[in-house]
Amino acid sequence: MRALMWATLALAALLGEAACADPPTTQAAAPVEAAAPPPAPSPPAPPPPVPRAYGHFPYAEGAGLQAGVCQHGDPERTKLKPDAAAALARMRDAARAAGVTLLPSSCFRSVASQARLFNCSGNSGTGCAGGKLASAERRATAVAPPGHSEHATGYAIDFFPGATDLSEGGGCPSRAACTTTARFAQSRSGKWLAAHAHDFGFEQSFYPGSTQGVMVEPWHYRFVGSPEAQEVFRAARMMFSPPKPGGTAR
Ligand SMILES: [Zn+2]
Repeated sequence: MRALMWATLALAALLGEAACADPPTTQAAAPVEAAAPPPAPSPPAPPPPVPRAYGHFPYAEGAGLQAGVCQHGDPERTKLKPDAAAALARMRDAARAAGVTLLPSSCFRSVASQARLFNCSGNSGTGCAGGKLASAERRATAVAPPGHSEHATGYAIDFFPGATDLSEGGGCPSRAACTTTARFAQSRSGKWLAAHAHDFGFEQSFYPGSTQGVMVEPWHYRFVGSPEAQEVFRAARMMFSPPKPGGTAR
């Protein structure tokens, strides 16, 4: 027993000596300097300015369009991008449930059609914005020059007055009174769209208060509810951000 005690004490002394041994005599490492913080990332360069024509942004013709979506006598104008068409169907159902008949009428326009519309020579012919007497600059406040229309993308819709707009209290005394006129804003469709279109991914492109230089168009909506659509309208939305209902700029 005593031998065991001595052995234990000897071992403890040995361990204690080891624990108290001097530190190695090798040269102490130089203190590590604090790593310099990485340089702050420089802010991304602003995108180059987009050349506009009389305030209108350039747009290419959209592909993969779905026909028969909008109601127009010209088959071309019935076309819309499929993602916008699906959102439009949901929006029309919601409006119908609220007692509002939406009439999406003029949708896609090719660049060639836009050229005819913009350059039409009649003085006051249907679809002519001012005709040959107006300067291109003046016409461009109402009609985009070819290659600069949102309708070419397949994401834009002109709503015409629907049946409930023309009925008692609908806000439109006649179809002509609200077709591509400011009065459309006072129709049932115009009011409903202003309040709810953004819930379905649509927004009014040329809204009251915009400084883009294009006349206010309460009937004209563009789809921005998909990444592809948002990319198409990125420049326009960066410079002229439509307000959400309630007045908060987006
Ligand atoms: Zn339009």
